[in-house]
Amino acid sequence: MSALPIPTLELSNGYQIPQLGFGTYKISAEDCVDTVKYALDLGIRHIDTAQMYHNEAEVGRAIEESGIPREEIFLTTKLNNDKHLPEDARRSFAQSLEDLRTDYVDLFLIHWPLPTLYGGDFVQTWRTLLEFEQQGRARTVGVSNFQIPHLERLMKETGVMPAVNQVEIHPHFANNQLRSFHLEHNILTEAWSPLARGTIFGDEKVISAAKRLGKTPAQVVLRWGIERGDVLFPKSVTPDRIKENLDIFDFQLDEQTKADLDSLDKGEDGRTGSHPDTMALL
Ligand code: NAD
Repeated sequence: MSALPIPTLELSNGYQIPQLGFGTYKISAEDCVDTVKYALDLGIRHIDTAQMYHNEAEVGRAIEESGIPREEIFLTTKLNNDKHLPEDARRSFAQSLEDLRTDYVDLFLIHWPLPTLYGGDFVQTWRTLLEFEQQGRARTVGVSNFQIPHLERLMKETGVMPAVNQVEIHPHFANNQLRSFHLEHNILTEAWSPLARGTIFGDEKVISAAKRLGKTPAQVVLRWGIERGDVLFPKSVTPDRIKENLDIFDFQLDEQTKADLDSLDKGEDGRTGSHPDTMALL
């Protein structure tokens, strides 16, 4: 199958990232190799995994077996919550590279800031990630689930802002204040759970927009994220849905649909995941 015209965005360090990728949270080791190979075969060139997902080895195998040159794929993984201390981070990063069968990742993220653990010292963790970037073993380093005060602290204490912050965003939780901060500081926004984990498809405004545009609810919701300029990586293990989630580059949202989807923002009540200020699971 031929590669789709998926747009790329530029990171603050000049690297390009495909705006649409493929998420692998909760894809079991059993399903992972075939599912990721299927996504790559359809033209996806951006895979998001994490030490926490326990499927890095399968993602690595899928990439290798796909036969696609490593440099054509944008690969992200994330530091686990119990690996923030520098020696643990170094060991686990080396293990990630080994499991992923590669000598570099395109993006390595601190998965959660954990401000109530490790004496709140996520700055030390950030410094360790900067080592990996200097070594060229992570082309880009960034963070995930960081709030504005966490980002400000990184800047103040290290002088280096992350290139990326991967945070929860979908129409029920638009996260606009954080996105504006990212824009001001040249931080790329990655939107996790762009489909609100499947909880948004019953919404009347989503259903009627889909009917009006001749698209599915998932496609309309993903298009909303793409047109806002965020990077998305929806997850599915169902072949038809993976295909459907890619087929979003031949239409645009009209003003009415944009306004309808913007109006679905529930603020903090719209979060489906943990709150970054209190998340403390190791
Ligand atoms: P998602 O919003 O992508 O929703 C996934 C669910 O939506 C699927 O399980 C499926 O039930 C449903 N779905 C997908 N496509 C569909 C379609 N076309 N029609 C109907 N239903 C469909 O949720 P997610 O997996 O939580 O998020 C995407 C990715 O973001 C993850 O896989 C992971 O890579 C990343 N993520 C990161 C963090 C973080 O803390 N950094 C947290 C959560 C997710």
